[in-house]
Amino acid sequence: MTPVTAGERYETIIGIECHVELDTRSKMFCGCAAKWFGAPPNTLTCEVCLGLPGALPYPNRKAIELSITAGIALHCETPEHTKFDRKNYMYPDLPKGYQISQFDLPLSVSGWLEIPADDGSTKRIRVRRAHLEEDTGSLLHAGGATLIDFNRSGVPLLEIVSEPDLRSVGESLAYLEALRERLVYAGVAGFRLEEGGARFDVNVSIRFDEDGETRWPPLSEIKNLNSFRALEEAVPYESARLWDEWESGGVLRRRTGKITVGWSPESHRTYLQRTKEEVDDYRYFPEPDLVALAPDRAMVERIRAALPEMPDERRARFTTQYGLSDYDARVLVSDRDLAEWFEQAAKTAPGQAKRVANWVTGELLGHLRAAGTPLGSLTLTPGQLGALVGLIEAGTISTTGAKTVFAEMLATGRDADAIVNENGLSQVSDEAAIAAVVDAVIAANPKAVADVRAGNARALAALFGPVMKQMGGKANPVVVNRMIAERVK
Ligand SMILES: [Zn+2]
Repeated sequence: MTPVTAGERYETIIGIECHVELDTRSKMFCGCAAKWFGAPPNTLTCEVCLGLPGALPYPNRKAIELSITAGIALHCETPEHTKFDRKNYMYPDLPKGYQISQFDLPLSVSGWLEIPADDGSTKRIRVRRAHLEEDTGSLLHAGGATLIDFNRSGVPLLEIVSEPDLRSVGESLAYLEALRERLVYAGVAGFRLEEGGARFDVNVSIRFDEDGETRWPPLSEIKNLNSFRALEEAVPYESARLWDEWESGGVLRRRTGKITVGWSPESHRTYLQRTKEEVDDYRYFPEPDLVALAPDRAMVERIRAALPEMPDERRARFTTQYGLSDYDARVLVSDRDLAEWFEQAAKTAPGQAKRVANWVTGELLGHLRAAGTPLGSLTLTPGQLGALVGLIEAGTISTTGAKTVFAEMLATGRDADAIVNENGLSQVSDEAAIAAVVDAVIAANPKAVADVRAGNARALAALFGPVMKQMGGKANPVVVNRMIAERVK
């Protein structure tokens, strides 16, 4: 085991089961719409997803393809034989009394993901399996009553199970972020946490040395976390609680098997849900209403070939092909649409990719954040930003002037050169015009000239400032500096 460092009494061992809704139009086993978020309760249902007697499921091909896509994006193998099973349990939001899931033959096995580890290195987190199942309905607790909404019932859900390879909250968040990024890039899922599009069950245990022996008491499973924030709070809470329970000589020293706990974001505590839960309790058996599933090899290879460039590959390419910093590559690639927008803009401003990246990560993202609007709502095209960067590069406008032009472009959707011409924003690069002013300023400031010649480089500013002022701020500063230097050397 990893040695416990000074100040840490135990090592935290974490494994994550991540449930992700797949981006399909219809549900897993019926034709009802799958986009349940925000729909009026119980408007997206039929006899299949309401679990009415005699209704038969028929599988959603797109959901199976997306599951295989997800598996490939997570470096999993796609077994030749898989099947659906019944997971039996009673719960009000599960009208059939069972959930169709996959037990021993899931669609994807033995994958991995790489994440930045706490020590700055790259760490590989193993993905044990990813299986396809149907979501349950949702319960709404209001006014002392509980209401059931079956719109979510039957929505295709992919459960991705990691091995217990994570050692901290930081690594857990990095894993989920890497997972989110890959699934979104692969077009498998929106992963919109705020719309219930993903949830996590987090297995937490602690490991430490005591009396010369390594102790690894039974774990807790924290159920149904629906935000990164909840995970960030719940994991340290539960691991500390396990330690305290051990230290107090409590039941943790005697118990076997994991317990299931919930997380209360209001009281910032976990609470006990179930003390024992074994696989046997679910009485899994093969789903008799569905045939076994043998993913066609040609289809698997077609999906593999069609998988788009994944975010870590794209980040690496952005740093080598465009010479971007790690940070810029990270910001741009964090959003697939933004990365594509940047590349289109960079194509229209050859050799200026770094400058384009600065504008996208700085001014453009700043604008989107301030306005609270998505990239898709922009009227500004990548080519228009490329043209603006071209004007800066050519010295036609200053960087300061370009910001004014950019604001106008965002507001009106017009081209940079039209705005520059109309508002007289172009820089004067006409050397004769600048030379006349430079000569006049030098003649009027003999002391500054003498200071510069005596070695005081700062005195240059006393010449540069008046030139720019007399030119109304529009002189090309590069030309001005060069001309002053030529005359005062
Ligand atoms: Zn239905």
